[in-house]
Amino acid sequence: MSVSTYGISFRSNAVKALQDSNLRSAMRNATETFAVKRSDAVAALPLEEWRGRASNIRLHVLDNLSDYVDRFEKNASRVGANVHRAKDSQEARGIIASILKDHGIERVVKSKSMVSEEVHLNDHLQGQGITVVETDLGEYIIQIAGEGPSHIIVPAIHKDRRQVGKLFAEKLGCEYSDEPAILTGVAKKVLREEFLSAKAGISGANFAVADSGSIVIFTNEGNGRMCTTLPALHIVILSIEKIIPSLADLPTFIRLLPRSATGQIITSYLSVITGPRKSGESTGAEEMHIVLLDNGRSKLIAGEYREMFKCIRCGACLNACPVYRMVGGHAYESTYPGPMGIVLTALLEGMERTSNLLDATTLCGACGDVCPVKVPLPKLLRRLRESRVEKGLTPKLEQQAMAAFGLAARSPALFQFGRKLARLFWKPARMMGFGGILGRLPIPAEKPFRRRMG
Ligand code: SF4
Repeated sequence: MSVSTYGISFRSNAVKALQDSNLRSAMRNATETFAVKRSDAVAALPLEEWRGRASNIRLHVLDNLSDYVDRFEKNASRVGANVHRAKDSQEARGIIASILKDHGIERVVKSKSMVSEEVHLNDHLQGQGITVVETDLGEYIIQIAGEGPSHIIVPAIHKDRRQVGKLFAEKLGCEYSDEPAILTGVAKKVLREEFLSAKAGISGANFAVADSGSIVIFTNEGNGRMCTTLPALHIVILSIEKIIPSLADLPTFIRLLPRSATGQIITSYLSVITGPRKSGESTGAEEMHIVLLDNGRSKLIAGEYREMFKCIRCGACLNACPVYRMVGGHAYESTYPGPMGIVLTALLEGMERTSNLLDATTLCGACGDVCPVKVPLPKLLRRLRESRVEKGLTPKLEQQAMAAFGLAARSPALFQFGRKLARLFWKPARMMGFGGILGRLPIPAEKPFRRRMG
């Protein structure tokens, strides 16, 4: 993956990804499996009714976000959690580092959290001398490989079991195996030691419940529960739009999230954590901190892209996207890849660096069709493309070509002349090395379509 400071090199990243046969076969196997499982899991269910209800709950929260954030803060504090508000990534990282330093902690176990990736938490903590051990198996694999996640729920989706086997043999000194059960056993042994000795755990949250002050975590591996209940200190980081009004709203998302994400009827573990451990309780952290990240969301939610923030991070739009399925997540050079990632990254980071990503879509609409909360991704992608043109962020050649086409399209005579001219020069231009778009488009027809119909 090549990372550029001022622009995402999606095209060259995609070309490299397409030449990587291991990546393509791992991506094909995983995304096809998830897509098929999802469609089996939602068949014969009142899916549209559920999607409508989920979308309405999410919209209602976004409409009243500041009230719900206040209500969550009040109720989480009432049950004993310390709630911190972070206006941006820097503040969120600083709050978490200070809590850990105040407790003299130098090693922390962590369960999967995309928001922690968004704020680059691990790099910051490691820079402060605090070792972070990822405990989700996929996250653990990419951490020891020195990579970032390439899917929002399956971080190591781009690796097959042979690659994981080689990685474990090289980094953990175990014997090579490509048997999933053996590889899982190796990771389990290493991670169990970490859980038992950890003094602090960091987690994300799938939802935060305003009325009860609870946080809700869906996991399949049990590591989330270990991180949040074994160490004496538990720190949660989540973005403000993850709030839902009450526990009565949770079943709607329990029905939709696992089905959309992995095609499961329910995840193996579903934890609802309401404050730290109370007297008489046998499990749970003794101290709990919740960091609520804004990072520009309050402003964005008040604007025309607010529906993006209905997203519950299920990953279904990634699995359905023909572009993502071919190139994987690293080509996007961003925390959030795929269709939802393009929109979210453009909104959170601004268009200057991210506008190239807007080409990473066919606008086929599959992402919008599978979204369990009806995020209108194709509409948002089109609007961002319009905005890219309005801001003059498209390549100069494209701007000139579009201006010329606009001129020709307004005059039938000019259009005919242009078509004939293009036919004449198309082949020589290709031969002279102007492959690019000329190489991908067919030569203009000798007889235009409308004449053939006449
Ligand atoms: S946009 Fe929709 S489909 Fe995509 S991750 Fe978010 S909730 Fe899932």
